[in-house]
Amino acid sequence: MAWSLWLVPPIITSIFFVLGVITLYWAIFSWITAHVKASNRPIDVKKVQIAVGTLCAVGSVFALQLLVRDSHLSWTFTTFQLLLLIFVAYFLQLRIPYWVIFIASVGFMFLNGNVNQPLSWAYTVLFVLFYVVSYQQSVHLWRRPFLRYLSIAVIFAAVLWGIVCLRFHLDWRTYAEELGNYTILVVLMYGYFQIQDRDRRIKERLFQSANWDALTHVQNFAAYDRAVGHYFRHSANHQTRLAMIMFDIDHFKQVNDTYGHLAGDEVLKQVAAQVTAVLKKSDPKAVLYRTGGEEFNILLPDYDLTMSTAVAQRVFEGVRDLRITYNDVTIRVTISVGVSELREMDSNPLDFYKRVDANLYRSKKNGRKQITVE
Ligand code: GH3
Ligand code: MG
Ligand code: MG
Repeated sequence: MAWSLWLVPPIITSIFFVLGVITLYWAIFSWITAHVKASNRPIDVKKVQIAVGTLCAVGSVFALQLLVRDSHLSWTFTTFQLLLLIFVAYFLQLRIPYWVIFIASVGFMFLNGNVNQPLSWAYTVLFVLFYVVSYQQSVHLWRRPFLRYLSIAVIFAAVLWGIVCLRFHLDWRTYAEELGNYTILVVLMYGYFQIQDRDRRIKERLFQSANWDALTHVQNFAAYDRAVGHYFRHSANHQTRLAMIMFDIDHFKQVNDTYGHLAGDEVLKQVAAQVTAVLKKSDPKAVLYRTGGEEFNILLPDYDLTMSTAVAQRVFEGVRDLRITYNDVTIRVTISVGVSELREMDSNPLDFYKRVDANLYRSKKNGRKQITVE
């Protein structure tokens, strides 16, 4: 058997190839998302996953196949391909358009010089169907997920390996051996991802609670602090503008005292939701943070004083027009606002913050429900 040349049995090589591709995927994905998040740009995680997942899977399958395509061993990486398919479709749940998989599979046939082989076409069609079924399995919450996962993985592989055996005239011992090894790997993969998934969920929850406010679902002070530091450095290095709006709900203590603390909570939630909606409509680059009890900051990258004053006016009116109903009472609130932009004399983010805060303070001192810009 030609495997003696490789010195390690196929099951071991498959394990390492699959683990290698999975690791490569996580590394590229984490690198990209960390970079985009650090620059505070919006990110569509699913799109990044699809792009990186497709790239890693297609790249590795084609690269490995190049090593064996013209030999009698060109079936060698079949198990590896099937495991990658399961990884991408079932575990990453990437909804890669099915025609992309089909085109890639036909490309793969060209690479192997198989386009005139009916058996190869049968393989390709079944391969795409395997992807579709695996993906559908993973996104639906069926009962007995492991049994379903295992049966589908084994049934498709049994047929696909059957085609490979016919096509390359492999004996049935090889068939049984390959299918047996594959089944073991499919089970191991399931266990591996159960552990990974638990880990990922814990990390996500930690990230969420560290950066987001649980009551209002906007970002919190820690997130604000990081973002303002980032924008400050970016402005210093690239001479870009930065503006900040800070507002505080007027006489909020009275709301709590009159209607109760839960009513106060409802006011905070609805004010945050309203301001988020106002910003989303006309200023999607602006980000709202809850930086204190009833205090909020808005960071406006690339905004000057005039532009941010217009935003402050829209936010002010949005809150003023809000009618919050809680236990059959309607509560209305106003805000006091401070606005400023980053100046050259600001030697750190705190200097900038202090000026905005001072403007907010002046709004309060001058009778509340107003905007102070300087
Ligand atoms: P001003 O117009 O000067 O801002 O008056 P104020 O009453 O809004 O300000 P003050 O700082 O005296 O009171 C703020 C209140 O906000 C006190 C605190 O109990 C309340 N508060 C802070 N965080 C929360 C919260 O998460 N939920 C509720 N319900 N109240 C909160
Ligand atoms: Mg207040
Ligand atoms: Mg306050």
